Amino acid sequence: MFDKILIANRGEIACRIARTCRRLGVRTVAVYSEADRHAWHVALADEAHLLGAAPARESYLRGERIIDTALASGAEAIHPGYGFLSENADFAASCERAGITFIGPPSEAIRAMGSKSAAKRIMEQAGVPLVPGYHGEGQDADVLRQAAEAIGYPVLIKASLGGGGKGMRIVERPGDFAPALASARREALSAFGDDRVLVEKYLDRPRHIEVQVFADRHGNALHLFERDCSLQRRHQKVLEEAPAPGMTRERRREMGQAAVAAARAIGYTNAGTVEFIADATGAFYFMEMNTRLQVEHPVTEMISGQDLVEWQLRVAAGEPLPCTQDDLAINGHAIEARVYAEDPARDFLPSVGRISHLRLPEPSTHVRVDAGVRQGDEIAVYYDPMIAKLIVWDRDRPGALRRLRNALLDFQVVGVATNLQLLSAVAAHSAFAGGDLDTELIERHRRELMPETQPASDEILAIAVLAELMRIDAEGALVAADSQDPHSPWHSRNGWRLNEDNHHTLLFRDGEREVPVVAHYRRGHYLLELPGGPLAVTGELDAQGDMVVNLGGARRRASVVRKGEEITVMAGNSCHRLVLFDPLLQAMDQEAPAGTLNAPMPGTIIELLVKEGDAVERGAPLLILEAMKMEHTITAPGAGTIKAIRFAKGEQVREGMELITFEPADESNC
Ligand code: ADP
Ligand code: ADP
Ligand code: MG
Repeated sequence: MFDKILIANRGEIACRIARTCRRLGVRTVAVYSEADRHAWHVALADEAHLLGAAPARESYLRGERIIDTALASGAEAIHPGYGFLSENADFAASCERAGITFIGPPSEAIRAMGSKSAAKRIMEQAGVPLVPGYHGEGQDADVLRQAAEAIGYPVLIKASLGGGGKGMRIVERPGDFAPALASARREALSAFGDDRVLVEKYLDRPRHIEVQVFADRHGNALHLFERDCSLQRRHQKVLEEAPAPGMTRERRREMGQAAVAAARAIGYTNAGTVEFIADATGAFYFMEMNTRLQVEHPVTEMISGQDLVEWQLRVAAGEPLPCTQDDLAINGHAIEARVYAEDPARDFLPSVGRISHLRLPEPSTHVRVDAGVRQGDEIAVYYDPMIAKLIVWDRDRPGALRRLRNALLDFQVVGVATNLQLLSAVAAHSAFAGGDLDTELIERHRRELMPETQPASDEILAIAVLAELMRIDAEGALVAADSQDPHSPWHSRNGWRLNEDNHHTLLFRDGEREVPVVAHYRRGHYLLELPGGPLAVTGELDAQGDMVVNLGGARRRASVVRKGEEITVMAGNSCHRLVLFDPLLQAMDQEAPAGTLNAPMPGTIIELLVKEGDAVERGAPLLILEAMKMEHTITAPGAGTIKAIRFAKGEQVREGMELITFEPADESNC
């Protein structure tokens, strides 16, 4: 076993690898960018070295510098995590040349599987079934379009070197092929530095089932069962589970054998995942192989009782696999939910900012949280916006689902938008509980899973008012304690005794609407005039700082986080943001004036689709912004005319900057 390794990654995976190293007594070297000086992964490691500026190109992707750091610090091996350099064959080869062990497969195996097209050619020869498609060398637009015709629409264009759902476009009809190809190529070039693509038949309602494989340098290879990763958004996994619901022993054996055959075909060692796509008949086809540890490996760990990072280290150090295929068995059921800083209501746009409040579910034999951030950390625009992975385990799937629903209730994030409510909605949805999964499940049930934001309920408003009144009371108490005359009526904590009729009006902004709530002080409680009628309420804080409230006789528990004028109320499944509204500040309203289109996040303008003076329909694409390696299309908010375009193609914009001045069409003409 190694004495010391370097972890060439950040976030949750770097933290997770460091934990196993600590348990094994292996010392760790972290590397970090300027944006990550105070990151958790840096604190967890035994030593840490700065790589460079925040953008990944200048830090986490600087292979030579990372190898130099490993040599200088005496690390014998490098664990690349996932993303970044993990599937970079040149980097693995450089490590090998420098005499440093790359904790992963040999560089040739990475190269063989690095291109989805080349991988499909190899698998074709090994007799593994493939999705009908074109994965040839020819990249001429005409060649690709003809291939699409031959396959039959709908087709899927994929970046050959793609990953993370990027550079992928569904094309429904021939007329859409050319623009989809151009867009897929652009995204592929910027994310992977290569714009080659392949074309596949787009399967209807498929399932994504993958098999975890492992091989050592002594000729042993085995699989650790399958994972079902069908619950996705934008072709990216959101919830993963093991075992796959409805999997028969026979099919598990077939898929396991195909996956191990795939690994053997390329002389694979260490951890890898063979991804299959399965159709409604149960037939499965090879999709790609990920030659690294996968984001969702914890579900496999939970059902197999193994630590895959430990296996990776042992195999890389030359040890044989710790067990044989027959030693492995599935125990219970595990589900992972990826908690992302993103806004499902805005097409999953990543949300950047400081996490002002973070509370994670309590770890236990049933609940595991792999987090990469702590309260106060920043979700930066440079990296993947995943906050944490929540993994639950129980003896069967219904049990695991119940654990998931409960753990999600204890997961609190304030400061950035998150997908927590979507995860809760999925965990509670009958389609998910039924286990009849497919990759379009989330999209198909979009309306129920991502309902329009509802106005704050009376309950939420009451909790917000109570929190504010209790804060005022507590402040009064502090002032009184400090003053010469603690009994002065000016410090009264009992509401507003001096206020003639003992009441106070709080004005909230809730989305677009303004809601006044009148609070009357009564002996021992407050009486609130809420939109739905009067309600008698009391509240107190528990030792954790949570509110225990009594709303008209119903006892509830809630967390309230205040940041400036913003009040976030978290009660049960709901997380609602209100703004305490001071009418005096109304005149200074900061909102962008009507008729402007602002950058939803920092990025680069990569395509302008309109020119000044153009008349457009509602929803018409106006420009494409690239941010966090994804393309975001800015569309017209209604019918109207483009008055001015503020930036040229290629220019960088900051969040909130006006991109286009838009004149809505006269309402009366509509
Ligand atoms: P990535 O490298 O981004 O992981 P994959 O090839 O693994 O790309 O595909 C990602 C996802 O896209 C799959 O999990 C599946 O949901 C969807 N997908 C891929 N190929 C097809 C296909 N031929 N038909 C339908 N959906 C597909
Ligand atoms: P997996 O295939 O392991 O299930 P995904 O394909 O969804 O997971 O995500 C892996 C990809 O996501 C990586 O190839 C990378 O592009 C991106 N990614 C996710 N998290 C990180 C991270 N912490 N650092 C760098 N890249 C990341
Ligand atoms: Mg994939």
